[in-house]
Amino acid sequence: MSVAWLCLMSGVCSTLAVSEPPEEYVCLKEAYTEHVCGWGAGQVILCDGGLVPWDNGYISEDYIDYLDHADLSDQMKIKYPLGREYDHPELNEDPGRARSEVFFRRIYGQDARAVRKTLKDVTWMVEHGGRTIRVTGVNGVDTKLKAVERELMQLDRAVWKKVIKDSGTFVWRAIKGTNGRLSMHSFAIAVDVGVPISDYWRWNKPDAEGRYAYKNKMPLEVVEVFERHGFIWGGKWYHFDTMHFEYRPELILCGER
Ligand SMILES: [Zn+2]
Repeated sequence: MSVAWLCLMSGVCSTLAVSEPPEEYVCLKEAYTEHVCGWGAGQVILCDGGLVPWDNGYISEDYIDYLDHADLSDQMKIKYPLGREYDHPELNEDPGRARSEVFFRRIYGQDARAVRKTLKDVTWMVEHGGRTIRVTGVNGVDTKLKAVERELMQLDRAVWKKVIKDSGTFVWRAIKGTNGRLSMHSFAIAVDVGVPISDYWRWNKPDAEGRYAYKNKMPLEVVEVFERHGFIWGGKWYHFDTMHFEYRPELILCGER
């Protein structure tokens, strides 16, 4: 933080705290150009005038409690690994799993009713046994998901066949085992595809040290297509959820190869 002099017309001068935005702010602004309009005094200024704190100052040793109180700084803290080459995530390395719920509510809707009004139909491999699914039209998530589907169909049939079956998109609900923390399915920005080949950390038993062994059957070509259109993949989390994709362009923009 730097300090600037502010001199009023009366001739009285005082110091003014000027805070520079953190570098990850640029990714957030670029990812949500219609919603994020500026930075001031440690807060993101939304285009409708609302403010979202970057860092809420909450500190917790407990991982679940930390996620329950995550803010924008937590949201951007772990860099998302882009592409096919990625290491199996270390303990609690879940890039994108910390989210500022305040931010997402402001952008996509405060409650189920508000989100429901934004829903758009997207046909998902319907000619091949898929179905029409619904995601939000905010930020063009519907057209981006349709672009994903079209691009997937350019891949080998053996690959896209695996992700025909979905297990839903929009449902306003808290994540199991949390203190009411909303799933990103609540904002209709997440899809679960490839049900028959999915792996989920909760379906496994931890080892003697309480660690979960990584598993994945999702083809990485599929992951790359989703990432190209702004979606992150739950298969790159220590708490893996390999059928889960969610629209998080801020993490793609700040991602690392
Ligand atoms: Zn999901």
